[in-house]
Amino acid sequence: MNIKYCDALVIGGGLAGLRAAVETARQGLSTTVLSMIPVKRSHSAAAQGGMQASLGNSKMSEGDNEDLHFQDTVKGSDWGCDQDVARMFVTVAPKAIRELAAWGVPWTRISRGKRTAIINAERTVIDEKEEVHGLIHSRDFGGTKKWRTCYTSDATGHTMLFAVANEALKHNVNVEDRKEAIALIHENNQCFGAVVRDLVTGELTAYVAKGTLIATGGYGRLYRQTTNAVNCEGIGAAIALETGVAKLGNMEAVQFHPTPIVPSGILLTEGCRGDGGLLRDVDGHRFMPDYEPEKKELASRDVVSRRMMEHIRNGKGVPSPYGEHVWLDISILGREHIEKNLRDVQEICQIFNGIDPADEGPKGWAPVLPMQHYSMGGIRTNAKGESPTLKGLFSAGEAACWDMHGFNRLGGNSVSETVVAGMIVGDYFAKHCTTTQITVSTTAIERAVKKQEAFIDHLLKGEGKNDIFTIKNRMKDIMWDKVSIFRDHKGLTEAVNELQELLKKSHDVTVKSKTRAANPELEEAYRVPMMLKLALCLAEGALRRTESRGAHYREDYLKRDDANWLNRTLTSWKEGDLMPTVEYEPLDIMKMEIPPAFRGYGVKGNIIEHPDSAKRQEEVDCIREEMEKAGKSRHEIQDALMPFELQPQFKALNERVGVGYE
Ligand SMILES: Cc1cc2nc3c(=O)[nH]c(=O)nc-3n(C[C@H](O)[C@H](O)[C@H](O)COP(=O)(O)OP(=O)(O)OC[C@H]3O[C@@H](n4cnc5c(N)ncnc54)[C@H](O)[C@@H]3O)c2cc1C
Repeated sequence: MNIKYCDALVIGGGLAGLRAAVETARQGLSTTVLSMIPVKRSHSAAAQGGMQASLGNSKMSEGDNEDLHFQDTVKGSDWGCDQDVARMFVTVAPKAIRELAAWGVPWTRISRGKRTAIINAERTVIDEKEEVHGLIHSRDFGGTKKWRTCYTSDATGHTMLFAVANEALKHNVNVEDRKEAIALIHENNQCFGAVVRDLVTGELTAYVAKGTLIATGGYGRLYRQTTNAVNCEGIGAAIALETGVAKLGNMEAVQFHPTPIVPSGILLTEGCRGDGGLLRDVDGHRFMPDYEPEKKELASRDVVSRRMMEHIRNGKGVPSPYGEHVWLDISILGREHIEKNLRDVQEICQIFNGIDPADEGPKGWAPVLPMQHYSMGGIRTNAKGESPTLKGLFSAGEAACWDMHGFNRLGGNSVSETVVAGMIVGDYFAKHCTTTQITVSTTAIERAVKKQEAFIDHLLKGEGKNDIFTIKNRMKDIMWDKVSIFRDHKGLTEAVNELQELLKKSHDVTVKSKTRAANPELEEAYRVPMMLKLALCLAEGALRRTESRGAHYREDYLKRDDANWLNRTLTSWKEGDLMPTVEYEPLDIMKMEIPPAFRGYGVKGNIIEHPDSAKRQEEVDCIREEMEKAGKSRHEIQDALMPFELQPQFKALNERVGVGYE
């Protein structure tokens, strides 16, 4: 049996995993990062538009701070997030972005003086002050009060990932790619590492560690139409689920992005609308102001996606061989702007659709339609990033339900989360690995490896009735057709039943190619049953949640029901079961810094109030009023409203131009 030992095992080499690995390596721990693909090709590289951090440098972000970023994040989440975690996040984001600058990320910078920008379809002159010349710039994104999304043109994820990966190498992190974790090693509710398959040789190895952190990204590929890369299949979350001990949180919370290009599904960043791009219908009419007079194209993603679909349902879609769509018009931004700030978008349009979006008028319009984009759900952790039920298992980034996004993530808050969680959770993870001595029996390790070996043997020998590719494609269709932007009891019930049938079928397949090494069919045969379990957690969670919150939209339960559903869905899986075990974790309204209210966009009055909402609001108002009268700072007031724990090096105040550490 092959066994490798390290102090800290990180599964996943995207932004979150690599940033956490830098933390453990810096603290002197032997650290291994495993990745299915070369780490610099991780899905993080696809992030285009930017990273939210309340620097407040540019004219349009003057006055920004953690409080505004926090408010936007909580409203964006439709009050589904953990407000403590959201506070931790907004406090650290400015530090994270400055750290990245020091590591070489070439953030787009402000130039002093006048420039023109498109705001609400009008050319507007913005005058940048002398003292901000050269500081990190930011653009507008959906659901935010200030222009807070910092960027490197429209290749932000790429530059961030290269910088963080280089930093990991600098700290001698042992990066091993083409390695797939296929099971966790655990005993007595403690995690000891993972069973890992070499994707080239097919060999299995046990990686044993004092702590294991899963940062394997999202599960977008459960859906037929998605912006996600082919390896975003949720296997990291699935191996946690399969322990029967770790739990997944809010799996039904899935984001659909308004502007992937049709038909390929490649994303055209929210930066397009942030920079002033418009959505137009079959008549060329700009329709978003009709639905969302205040935020227009820049309401939160869940709202814009639904409005687009609603408009198409109202007969205003553009017919095409790939179904109806609407248009994204960025030509009004001008060629110079596009070729500087949206050059990836331009290339995508040119290569995949033969369109130059800088061409004026309808010729330059790109066909877009909402598609799956982001997984708010994932491995449930506490605020330190550790599974509350499986000791020694941590998670960060899109794989985790840490849970700062609740039921809708704001654009720009995800790459920001990856590096911020890499810092905060990475540090807690490092402390865990430093202070924990593990005693793990060789029997437990051997048992875990042998179980996987036997399963792979069984798949290779099997002469089952079913074809794994057919099962996988059917799963994707079911998810797209029935567990999508609009959901209802009938569709979700059908989805759950059909997915269960598919799960049964997936246990009875033939793998035609019998080779152990580099065998994609074999890989599908062990991955698809795991994906089906995730799909069932998602569909069952969505079926039971009889309300609409953020991206979870029930056409038969249109209201956000704070009285009954101010909670987080937890799913776990008992070995041999065909359905997840579902339970709920309440959110404590009396501890919230911002009690539930109207988000400021979307349909008004669609809320069933929690009985304590008004009481907590009164309490918050009273504390705020008294402390303001007493001349207390915003930090002191925040602390009185909702004290939160954060490592001192991260809790330190952030400096902003013109206001210092205010
Ligand atoms: C097209 C697109 C554009 C986006 N633009 C933005 C943006 O502008 N701003 C923003 O904030 N967010 C954006 N996002 C979201 C953001 O990019 C992701 O949420 C984030 O980068 C995820 O990072 P991660 O480190 O959690 O995971 P990933 O970057 O997905 O990395 C996952 C890693 O896990 C590895 N892995 C997976 N499974 C296994 C396994 N079983 N064993 C071993 N390794 C495994 C993979 O090889 C990879 O290294 C965008 C997303 C998409 C799809």
